[in-house]
Amino acid sequence: MKFNLHKQANASLNSGIDLKEVVKLPAGEDMNDWIAVHVVDFFNRINLLYGTICEFCTEETCPTMSGGPKYEYHWCDGQNYKKPTALPAPKYITLLMEWVEAQINDENIFPVKVGVPFPKNYQQVTKKILTRLFRVFVHVYIHHFDKLISIGAEAHVNTCYKHFYYFVTEYNLVDKKELEPLVRLYVIHQQSCIVSLYVH
Ligand SMILES: [Zn+2]
Repeated sequence: MKFNLHKQANASLNSGIDLKEVVKLPAGEDMNDWIAVHVVDFFNRINLLYGTICEFCTEETCPTMSGGPKYEYHWCDGQNYKKPTALPAPKYITLLMEWVEAQINDENIFPVKVGVPFPKNYQQVTKKILTRLFRVFVHVYIHHFDKLISIGAEAHVNTCYKHFYYFVTEYNLVDKKELEPLVRLYVIHQQSCIVSLYVH
């Protein structure tokens, strides 16, 4: 299967909002707060995004949490899954979203009371959250983009992805290596050129 992302990407590329500027820390704001706001925002948006296609992402259609033939993710949470474990994509994504939600609701990581500082490992934890959230983009883009097109959600998803991408690269919150599966989308963002995404 082959499809062209050009038109879909352009739908949001030219939307007029400069997302590269939007991610910059406003004067007088605290960096950790800025990251916290974005982590929560991206979690909610990615949760909704996956919700729009989750009926098409089943153990039958997606027996592994993959991003094309080259990438496969194994779940490990140190509790129920002590070793990296291959899981069907819907199971993996459910565990992933539950894990992120638990992190966000943990006041030791995201303090809600004024004056309570962020923990020392805050950056490390937020990097892990964003790295895992990115994998949902990878799976949805590579395996379910045709469904996003059919429900007319592609511009919305592209905007969300672009916002996410600019944010995590601005502050180096997801390693370059992790971003590789969607590197062709990165090319679209940089040059607005016609890029085809090949899947399967
Ligand atoms: Zn799937």
